[in-house]
Amino acid sequence: MAQIRHAADEELVTWVETLASKLAIRAERYDREGTFVSEQITYLQSVGYAGLTVPKIYGGRGCDLYQLLLAQERLAHGDPSAALVMGWHLGITLSLALTGAWPEPIYAEFCRSAVQGKALVNACGTEPDSGSPSRGGRPSTLAVRAPGGGYHLTGKKTWATGSPAITHILVTAYVEDVDCVGEFLVRKGAAGVQLEHSWDSMAMRGSGSHTVVLDHVFVPEEHLLDLVAPGQKTARSSDGSGWLLHIPATYLGIANAARDYTIDFAKKYAPNSLGQPIATVPHVREKIGQLEVQRGIAESVLFATARRYDDAPTLEAKRALREELALAKYAVTNAAVSMVDLAMRIVGGQSILRSHPLERYYRDVRAGLHNPPMDDVTLRQLADRALGKEVATKKER
Ligand SMILES: Cc1cc2nc3c(=O)[nH]c(=O)nc-3n(C[C@H](O)[C@H](O)[C@H](O)COP(=O)(O)OP(=O)(O)OC[C@H]3O[C@@H](n4cnc5c(N)ncnc54)[C@H](O)[C@@H]3O)c2cc1C
Repeated sequence: MAQIRHAADEELVTWVETLASKLAIRAERYDREGTFVSEQITYLQSVGYAGLTVPKIYGGRGCDLYQLLLAQERLAHGDPSAALVMGWHLGITLSLALTGAWPEPIYAEFCRSAVQGKALVNACGTEPDSGSPSRGGRPSTLAVRAPGGGYHLTGKKTWATGSPAITHILVTAYVEDVDCVGEFLVRKGAAGVQLEHSWDSMAMRGSGSHTVVLDHVFVPEEHLLDLVAPGQKTARSSDGSGWLLHIPATYLGIANAARDYTIDFAKKYAPNSLGQPIATVPHVREKIGQLEVQRGIAESVLFATARRYDDAPTLEAKRALREELALAKYAVTNAAVSMVDLAMRIVGGQSILRSHPLERYYRDVRAGLHNPPMDDVTLRQLADRALGKEVATKKER
């Protein structure tokens, strides 16, 4: 892989490749059944993958964003759903290290458990009537002050990836008495937390992105981790949310798996009408060339952006890269969708058969379009930047 910089990257990628090949054995079954990838996650936790971005002082590998993306891209070759679950966890863990958004004792305890394979975090922000939380809508989930201190949370969070396995659930809720939005830490097993097994999708079927139902769930005062005005960013986002690049890395991994399969196929498949492999046919070679262009652009944009992010010396400098981060997500996920499309055109009709790997890659890769930041938000941001403040959108006039 062109993006490997040194021996530490090489060692990491080689390790993750062995993990991915283990995951690949069960990935298709989970997809077919539409069940949560529980054994895959248990396996990854048992080998220490959940400690990848945990700082070294807490016993983790202390990987930066660049290395997180290298790992996630490789892992997704084996099982995209399992990679997505781990991506949320590892990304949030990294951003907490950068921002110090959690009180140290809570973060330290979480990190040590993650290294031991006992803790997994995800943020559950999406709700049935608010759409993507990245658009800034106020949560319908309510936090009401409990008489003796702390809060009671009531509401529903949809699309909660990894919900059967996550132990640390980050829940946004509207705190009416102060007209603010709070981010609360809800622990697995807390009274009043229930899972509605609602996840039945065409893509990322094993990701367990079910609905978390909260019914008067008590949260102690110290687990209110942030409180901001509606629409404002939390301390956890003060690093510009570079960690969200785990998303395009995962979808690029899917596309690269499709690409590897297709190149191998083109070299071996020799229909008797041709008498030689289809890799010799000009239109196939042209499509492979187009695949390589998409791949090269996607990898360059993704890793160059990650490098700039890691090199940015302050949170402010990282935040200043927000638009570049969004651009990278846009470019890479759209390239990944095009790559799988090209791969299917090369392989031909059999690529749509349920038994064919490209059929699964095709479904999985589309999910990237619906992870944040969404394309429409990115395009608006970039247009705003290009046009300058003096030209407002029609709606705002
Ligand atoms: C595989 C997968 C895993 C996910 N995991 C998680 C998770 O772990 N945690 C989590 O919180 N979420 C998760 N999500 C949910 C994701 O973050 C989004 O909330 C979800 O996909 C809906 O996004 P959306 O943009 O399609 O929906 P909406 O925001 O409802 O948008 C729907 C449509 O309406 C338009 N629209 C809506 N509001 C506006 C507006 N204000 N201005 C302009 N246009 C608007 C959009 O452009 C879009 O076309 C996951 C999604 C996927 C696909």
